[in-house]
Amino acid sequence: ETPSGKAPPKEKPQRRTVRLTHPDRIYWPDEGVTKEGLADYYTEVWRHIAPHIVGRPLALLRAPSGIDGQKFFQKHAWKGVNPNIRLVQDPEEKDGEPLIAIDDFDGLMGLVQSAVLEIHPWGSTLDDWERPDRIIMDLDPGEGVAWPAVLAAAQETRERLEATGLAAFVKTSGGKGLHVVAPLEPSADWPQVKAFCKALADAMASDSPDAYVSTISKAKRRGKILIDYLRNQRGMTAVAPYSTRARPGAAVSMPLAWEELGPEIGPAYFTVENTPTRLAALKADPWADFTASARRLRKDKP
Ligand code: ATP
Ligand code: MN
Ligand code: MN
Repeated sequence: ETPSGKAPPKEKPQRRTVRLTHPDRIYWPDEGVTKEGLADYYTEVWRHIAPHIVGRPLALLRAPSGIDGQKFFQKHAWKGVNPNIRLVQDPEEKDGEPLIAIDDFDGLMGLVQSAVLEIHPWGSTLDDWERPDRIIMDLDPGEGVAWPAVLAAAQETRERLEATGLAAFVKTSGGKGLHVVAPLEPSADWPQVKAFCKALADAMASDSPDAYVSTISKAKRRGKILIDYLRNQRGMTAVAPYSTRARPGAAVSMPLAWEELGPEIGPAYFTVENTPTRLAALKADPWADFTASARRLRKDKP
């Protein structure tokens, strides 16, 4: 079940009802990926991405002229917002500007129509704003960090999460790093989850001070990996699994099986172009058990 109580979609949507204006507009010039190409990509991945983007507040990176033009990171609705995009009111900000959500495939196509090139959901759902249903540990390699060190950081993050009884999943960011994601049964609130994640990052940094840092102010340190736990706060976001990135290469954030982690698959290895082939070749979705693996945060500290 998805957080909103609907069964996740099993099939590829058969047809598109949302009209795309300027379908030939080029969003990724080097790869020649157009608006229509983006719609085709999201049609292909819909059943995989749906549980991560439906029914939760979304921040969106829009780039109406493509990745080389102006980009807008938007947490609020804009003028003339597509009718398939739903406006939601943050219960903590009754007078604030509405936030953005989608309910279904047409909503996702509404995002494509609105030139959304990156989708960044909250870690909690509209059904339970205050209790996150996932932890996202964002591993950010500094200058000069070799890829095997990022892989080791992901494995260590996984072990530390599993040691507290949580399950851990991994995805490429589509940029420079990896994201380790732990599904939660919504129970602990944002401050509790943030404290847990900070303690995990701090423990990694104090046990391996040459390899890791856990504070942003030290993030630029050459040769070290920032264990960025700050995605795990109310109102903060991280890029969704299967979201495209508005960066050269048309890379996407790709869920992986832990066994796939290795030197061959870099952080931007999977793209709009090669993802359909990957999905067709996969025997099983590496994150198939994501929702069923959700556990309560049992401890204050990892
Ligand atoms: P990388 O692997 O390159 O680090 P990433 O997606 O993890 O890719 P970060 O810079 O580590 O990128 O994380 C930035 C996160 O902060 C984004 O995932 C996004 O949800 C959020 N964010 C906040 N403000 C912005 C903004 N102006 N533009 C883009 N992302 C933003
Ligand atoms: Mn990152
Ligand atoms: Mn980061």
